[in-house]
Amino acid sequence: MKLFEKIAIVGTGLIGGSLAQAARKNKLCDRLIGVSRHKATLEFAKRHKIIDSGSQDISILKDADLVILATPPQTIKILAPKIKKIIKNGCIVTDVASIKSEIVSSLEKIFPDYIGSHPLAGLEKRGIQNANARIFNDSLCILTPTKKTSLEAGRKIKLFWRALGVEVITMTPKEHDKVLSFVSHLPHVSAFSLMDAIPDKFLDFAAGGFKDTTRIAASDPELWAEIILGNQKDILYSVGQFKKSLRKITSAIRGQNKKALIAIIKSAKERREKLNSL
Ligand code: NAP
Repeated sequence: MKLFEKIAIVGTGLIGGSLAQAARKNKLCDRLIGVSRHKATLEFAKRHKIIDSGSQDISILKDADLVILATPPQTIKILAPKIKKIIKNGCIVTDVASIKSEIVSSLEKIFPDYIGSHPLAGLEKRGIQNANARIFNDSLCILTPTKKTSLEAGRKIKLFWRALGVEVITMTPKEHDKVLSFVSHLPHVSAFSLMDAIPDKFLDFAAGGFKDTTRIAASDPELWAEIILGNQKDILYSVGQFKKSLRKITSAIRGQNKKALIAIIKSAKERREKLNSL
C-alpha cells in the first residue's frame, strides 16, 4: 500500500536501514532516499538496493514526503533545525530515538508535522550491514503524541507502522521514558555492570546462562551513553529499585534464609514464564 511518494531516512544504520528495507518490501513508497555520515554506508545501502539514492548532504531531502530521523539522539537534535530549512511544506517527520521527552520537546518546536516514534525492535549490533526488515516482525512501536502533534502526522505515521505489520500504541513522552527506563535501559545498565563485575580470568568459563544475560552488553557504547544520559532521572529511579531487589536477595543469602530465597526465585520464575506467553 503506497503511503508516500518519497521516503527519506536520515541515518541509514541498523534501524534506519531495516526501516528502508521494510518500507520497500511493503511497497510503501515510490522512492527511498538515505542520508548518512559515511559514503561507504550509502554505497552499501545502494548496492544492496536498500535505498535508491543517497547523500551525505541533507539537501537531498528537499522533495521528501516523509523524513525519518534514525541517527543517535543527540545527532537528531543537531540535524533537526538544518533539516527544517530544506524540507518542503507538509513533509511529515518522525524519529526513532530510544528516549522521547528530550527529543519530542525539541523536535515539535521545529517541525509542524511531527510525531515521535520508538520501535521496540532492534539488536545489540549497529550499522547498515546488520539491517534487516525482519527485526520488525511481531514488534510494537510506541508513538508519543502531545497537544502540539498535527493530526495528519499522527494519522500517517500510525498507518506507516501498521503497514509494516507493527502494532502501534501511544503514550506521552514522559510515560514512554518511565516505562523504557525499566524494560530497556535498566537491563542495559545491569548487563554493562555485570560484565564489569566478572573477573577476566573467569570469562573463559562463561556458558549459555551468562551469554543470555549479557547479550545486550555488546551494544554500541556511544549510542548507549547518549540514551542513558538522556533519560537520567528515570534510569536513576529504576536502578534504585533494582538495588532494593539486590539488597533483598543479598539479605536472604547472608541469612541462609532458604524460604525467602525460594519466594524471590519463585516469583521471578512465574513472572518470567508469563512473558513467554505474551
Ligand atoms: P546505528 O546502526 O549506529 O545507525 C545510526 C546511523 O546514523 C548510521 O547510519 C550513522 O552513519 C548515522 N549517523 C550518525 N551521525 C550522523 C550524522 N551526523 N549525519 C548523518 N548520519 C549520521 O544506530 P541504530 O542502532 O540504528 O540507532 C539509531 C537510532 O535508533 C537511535 O536514535 C536509537 O536510539 C534508535 N533505536 C535503536 C534501537 C536498537 O536496538 N539499536 C532500537 C530502537 C531505536 P554511518 O553508518 O554512515 O556512520
